[in-house]
Amino acid sequence: MNRQQEFVLRTIEERDIRFVRLWFTDVLGTLKSVAVAPAELEGAFSEGIGFDGSSIDGFARVYEADMLLRPDASTFQVLPWRGKNPGTARMFADILLPNGSPSLADPRDVLRRALTKAGDLGFTFYTHPEIEFYLFEKELRRGRPVPVDSAGFFDHVPHGTAHDFRRAAITMLENMGISVEFSHHEGGPGQNEIDLRYADALSMADNIQTFKAVVKEVALEQGYFASFMPKPMAGEPGSGMHTHLSLFEGDTNAFHEPGAPYQLSGTGRHFIAGLLRYAPEFTAITNQYVNSYKRLWGGAEAPAHICWGHNNRSAMVRVPMYKPSKGQSTRVEVRSLDAAANPYLAYSVLLGAGLKGIEDELDLPPEAEDDVWNLTERERRAMGIEPLPASLDEAIRTMEESDFVAEVLGEHVFDFVLRNKRAEWAAYRDQVTEFEIKQDLRRL
Ligand code: GLU
Ligand code: MG
Ligand code: MG
Repeated sequence: MNRQQEFVLRTIEERDIRFVRLWFTDVLGTLKSVAVAPAELEGAFSEGIGFDGSSIDGFARVYEADMLLRPDASTFQVLPWRGKNPGTARMFADILLPNGSPSLADPRDVLRRALTKAGDLGFTFYTHPEIEFYLFEKELRRGRPVPVDSAGFFDHVPHGTAHDFRRAAITMLENMGISVEFSHHEGGPGQNEIDLRYADALSMADNIQTFKAVVKEVALEQGYFASFMPKPMAGEPGSGMHTHLSLFEGDTNAFHEPGAPYQLSGTGRHFIAGLLRYAPEFTAITNQYVNSYKRLWGGAEAPAHICWGHNNRSAMVRVPMYKPSKGQSTRVEVRSLDAAANPYLAYSVLLGAGLKGIEDELDLPPEAEDDVWNLTERERRAMGIEPLPASLDEAIRTMEESDFVAEVLGEHVFDFVLRNKRAEWAAYRDQVTEFEIKQDLRRL
């Protein structure tokens, strides 16, 4: 046992922890959990704990159902929302095959492989997400969600529900070692945003999974529910997960070059060029639901076009304002990513695309200075600005042809995502919607 594992066992004893939850994530990004008794942990650290993977979406075919969970001791946390006595703790676990090799279906391993590749090139990858979500009343009204308030962007609401909610959620996150940088009411009624302080991408993907669990937990405690659905209400803003990305070489920000335009180095420019080049191919991962495309194409500051800009909120990639006081804070913000993406897979494809841009020294096209939403299709075409996929169908068809995405995800995850998303599209295509009934039933 290593020192971290010994620390876990000691803490469990000292704090009277009786249940240890092992957390892992399926291919679509849903958090899964299995509780083990503390007495099992020593064995779990050394060999893993067996479970039947065939019942988890995308994990295994039935004939290779036996899998192992091995807890990652560095992620040990006591869960603040379960009673103190006896306490409950959690660790993220890696998924292994019976022979001890990593399961190719484990999103955490997909990201770890992408990070290893970055490491081979001398880079560490940091991310910092702005996570948006809605708070709704517990009960739907005529099948529709009811937001808990009618406030807007940055509104301060006296006695505001959202206010109390954010304070409770942030306190809980901080208790779990997740630093929050910023939080505010977002543009939609009942919509909030919480920004996490940057961390290496694997810790951050774990943090996002914890974040979602905490936000859902606190919402229920307060009598509401929280949703990370990309576009829960037509005509109101969607929920994005804009993410700021940076690469470091040792202590040096590889995107930072003093004196260059926007302080952005050649490496940073190539990285953005890679993001833009591979965007059509990876959008089925960063925006994985039928509903995701209603956000992308529904305006309200969501980007629908493949371009970059400095202060341009209609662009898919933005280089945020440089703060001289922050020295090495140069980073790029990807704005297409939505709050329902699987963070492990999304960070893998974003990193992979950026690294391809660096390796292939892709040229960065000129920045988009206008609000690209206001340009005509022709003007955009003349500027070389292509649209993002318009639907899940188009996104899957583009991903299907992508050697790049297949390589980053590995064939198993790649095939599973395509199969699952084709089924989602087919089920959606079968629906007759309220829109059609309203528009056509009596007219036709
Ligand atoms: N809610 C917007 C989106 O879906 C983003 C608003 C903002 O700029 O923070 O991307
Ligand atoms: Mg926002
Ligand atoms: Mg943003």
